[in-house]
Amino acid sequence: MWGIIATWRMALEGIEEAQDILENQGSASEAIEVAIQNVEDFPYYKSVGYGGLPNENMEVELDAAYMDGDTLDIGAIGAIKDFAHPISIAKQLSKEKVNNMLVGQGAEKYADHENFEKKIMLTDRAKIHYYNRKKEIEEQQIKPYDGHDTVGMVCLDNSGKMTAGTSTSGLFMKKQGRIGDSPLSGSGFYVDSKVGGATATGLGEDLMKGCISYEIVRLMKEGKHPQEACEIAVCQLDKELKERRGQAGDISVVAMNNQGEWGVATNIDGFSFVVASAIQSPIVYLVKNINGKCIHEVASEKWLEEYIQERIKPIVQK
Ligand code: ASP
Repeated sequence: MWGIIATWRMALEGIEEAQDILENQGSASEAIEVAIQNVEDFPYYKSVGYGGLPNENMEVELDAAYMDGDTLDIGAIGAIKDFAHPISIAKQLSKEKVNNMLVGQGAEKYADHENFEKKIMLTDRAKIHYYNRKKEIEEQQIKPYDGHDTVGMVCLDNSGKMTAGTSTSGLFMKKQGRIGDSPLSGSGFYVDSKVGGATATGLGEDLMKGCISYEIVRLMKEGKHPQEACEIAVCQLDKELKERRGQAGDISVVAMNNQGEWGVATNIDGFSFVVASAIQSPIVYLVKNINGKCIHEVASEKWLEEYIQERIKPIVQK
């Protein structure tokens, strides 16, 4: 049995590539890297890799992580600039004995030394978004939280090995050096081949408060189905945050156990995700949270068409 689950519709084409690998007895470590690289390469996704939206200094700073569920090896990078595939750098770091998480200049130095592909990740389109947003902020004091959405994946291969990976440009207009949950083990991702894995997207500052990915894996280890584990973890964190702080940021998660069973939960409307497995070709779903129960349905052709049109439509500088 193999399976792969990912946050957001943007993962679809990457998941299709992963399917080919997994069907042909490829490993979860190769499949997840190829799938995430695909998302990093696509210029119209504003929140991952090339074309990701910049920080307040108009620099694209990227976070990524990779985890091996057999060995529990973890590699992560934070706030790295001008490298094409953050996921691959994170994966390589996971194989080092120490120094597994590097940020900023240190991460760049490592990536350069290891000959990872350099690339200017700031596109003209992202610059237009930046200038438009700057103008909006000046005019209306809008909070710099838009154009986020991390790609996170959990993968199981035919040998029973599981992996997790994340890649993101984080929050649009974030402060220089800001690092979200995505490269943080337990918050943005966690995987254990003996149990299963989970990954999160949403407001990193809040996701960290519940170490939500680890919490989901912990619940699955207690015997919960991934769906139940996701719902409990999201509901609990959402409730705690609201009780203690008056509000909760966006929290969306996906999980898969080592049997290929999967689950998803969110506290927002409009969260989409993609799943493929030995018994299911890649499908995009949409999720809704109705009083703590997360109901998912297959995305319609109309929704899928509008999604792409919205991503690639021409934009003008205001
Ligand atoms: N969790 C990411 C961050 O805070 C953003 C997102 O997934 O929307 O950097």
